[in-house]
Amino acid sequence: MQGVGFRPFVHRLALELELAGHVRNDARGVLLEVEGPDGVVARFLERLAAEAPPLAAVERVLTAELAPRGERGFAILASAPGGSPDAPVAPDTATCDACLTELFDPADRRYRYPFVNCTNCGPRFTIVRGVPYDRQLTTMAGFAMCARCQAEYDDPGDRRFHAQPNACPACGPSVRLVDAAGSELARGDEAPRAAARALRAGSILAVKGLGGFHLACRADDEPAVAALRARKRREDRPFALMARDVAAALALAELDDAELALLQARARPIVLARRRAGAEVAAAVAPASPDLGLMLPYSPLHHLLLADTAVPLVMTSGNASDEPIAYTDADALHRLDAIADAFLLHDRPIHTRADDSVARVVAVGGRRRPLLLRRSRGYVPADLALPIAAPVPLLAVGAELKSTFCLAKGARAWVGQHIGDLRNYETLRSFRAGVEHFERLFAVTPAIVAHDLHPDYLSSAYAREREAVELVGVQHHHAHLAACLAEHGETGPAIGAIYDGAGHGTDGTVWGGELLAGDLSGCARVGHLWPVALPGGDRAAREPWRMACAWLVAATGPEPELPPALRDRVEPGLWRAVAGLATSGFAAPQTTSAGRLFDAVAALCGLHARVTYEGQAAIELEARVDPGTRDAYPLPLTEELVLDARETIRAIVADLAAGASTATVAARFHNALATATAGACAVAAGRGGLETVVLSGGVFQNRALLERTAAALERAGLRVLTPERLPPNDGGIAYGQAAVAATRAATSPAPLSSP
Ligand code: ZN
Ligand code: ZN
Ligand code: FE
Repeated sequence: MQGVGFRPFVHRLALELELAGHVRNDARGVLLEVEGPDGVVARFLERLAAEAPPLAAVERVLTAELAPRGERGFAILASAPGGSPDAPVAPDTATCDACLTELFDPADRRYRYPFVNCTNCGPRFTIVRGVPYDRQLTTMAGFAMCARCQAEYDDPGDRRFHAQPNACPACGPSVRLVDAAGSELARGDEAPRAAARALRAGSILAVKGLGGFHLACRADDEPAVAALRARKRREDRPFALMARDVAAALALAELDDAELALLQARARPIVLARRRAGAEVAAAVAPASPDLGLMLPYSPLHHLLLADTAVPLVMTSGNASDEPIAYTDADALHRLDAIADAFLLHDRPIHTRADDSVARVVAVGGRRRPLLLRRSRGYVPADLALPIAAPVPLLAVGAELKSTFCLAKGARAWVGQHIGDLRNYETLRSFRAGVEHFERLFAVTPAIVAHDLHPDYLSSAYAREREAVELVGVQHHHAHLAACLAEHGETGPAIGAIYDGAGHGTDGTVWGGELLAGDLSGCARVGHLWPVALPGGDRAAREPWRMACAWLVAATGPEPELPPALRDRVEPGLWRAVAGLATSGFAAPQTTSAGRLFDAVAALCGLHARVTYEGQAAIELEARVDPGTRDAYPLPLTEELVLDARETIRAIVADLAAGASTATVAARFHNALATATAGACAVAAGRGGLETVVLSGGVFQNRALLERTAAALERAGLRVLTPERLPPNDGGIAYGQAAVAATRAATSPAPLSSP
């Protein structure tokens, strides 16, 4: 990777070993020549990979022997232009300890300078306009370094040697605080101080970060948080919090070692963790959630704000409702003027929008490790390997919600940042721009474009627009299975239990509770959840009571009674009408969706008749699970490996009628689905002579379900693979499509498109 201090490290190592030669970045990585005695050159090569600096990952070292030229000294040469630039740009990295010390040292020339960074930290991906990674191809191009900064930049022994965003108060970017009309309130060091005073007094601020704007306010200020929620029109979705340091985070949430490590990782994701009893957090931060989303400061400006306010802040994405986050000053002033009281801006442009990443810790396979829910800032654009190399460059366009894209060349794949719901016009534009940017950065001109089989996805429409490419359709749940296999370097075959909200099935119905058997090139559907009606189509995903109705029709027959928990929320005439749709199948396609089964159970418990975001009912049902309840409802398996949840629904109705609590029902339901899923996978694995099971799909963001299913599979002697480097939700689809398309192109001449 470029800009991670690798060349100066090579320089120091060569000097130490008294070797002559040079090192330079070229478009494919680092190219170096050393000259000296055989044994010393061998020692140099050994230490090259072993002692590389923290952000450098040495993938492989290729060597060739050259005739000695009698060179003296060791030089770091300028980057070579041209070539095929597949040397990756590093992800944005949180401020390092050395820079942090300078930030708070009154004697340092960068004391309280909000843009302090060095080779080991700072912005990368979000400021890059092109490759090779040099200052003139970043958004720092407009700032000429002062003599002192230039001296640091030129000194191979300095921590800032070739640190492209290097800057200081004399020569670099600066901060301004402006009001909603754009009039300046403060500038320079007075800006963060004034911003902190405004925050302490209860104001809502728009704050420019690394990958876009945040909306910030005090986390403990009920009126401020309630006002932010109202102005943002975000209804129920939890807000993320930023705590000053680990101690402040521990006052808000119970964090174990794995969660603390994740919180402090250089990527600085938002970590979902159990809220501490008595945590001083306004109720409006995360209504109805036992978890909080926490992160630590990752830019110097955040560190200053958190130090000056001395209270945890809400730091939620700078957008209204479902729009993408604002990332230019003009855009923020335009779109957030009705939300923010003031704007903390700066003049270092963000070239690429990148949301905060989100993760939680899960216990799978005997270890507690991260599960990514959204992969963006801090992780992108790190590359992933493909187990079967793509014989030609390819693009995979992903799904539609939680959209990402993926480019691949040879055995390398680059997954783009989380883009969001493509049905929003601005998001779709962002998707197009992102694909173009990545194509330039990694010099990929796709000859194949892989897409979902759903004909109406805007990503599929985009794929059809591309000219002079071969299209490869990949079934949605096969892509989920392939993504998980491929990130673990495996090709299959394996069994996949793929549970999500919806994906286009090869029979034209809506799939989402699938048992698959297959590998990277293809798969067969070997089982599924009992199919029920989706009354009103897409409306059913926003109105879980409709799914309760559909499941009652399936489980108890037409004209089900309106359940007690829904009596004051659903109008009886509407209930009867929807029951009619479910019974007749009119305006009610069939679905095997596991996500919709969760909706039905949540609605029966009275949690939500209607939701404001996809998956909300399932998230709240998981949150209610009583950890002490180990028994389960019946969930029988048919000979054809159909998970017959009708009996589960009947048991839930009876349990609720007998006065069971939501916590008990939620636990027994999770246990039932985990046990039945593991049982079905075991049967499928036995029939196919397989021993590996993949658990993926958005429903497996559910920690209780994931952990319990994985544990049951392991007890049955099966090997379990779960997503780690990519989310189990549709954020992983593009990479899965790429893995499938690469495999098909590498192994079969034609045709490439089939489920
Ligand atoms: Zn640093
Ligand atoms: Zn300077
Ligand atoms: Fe999916």
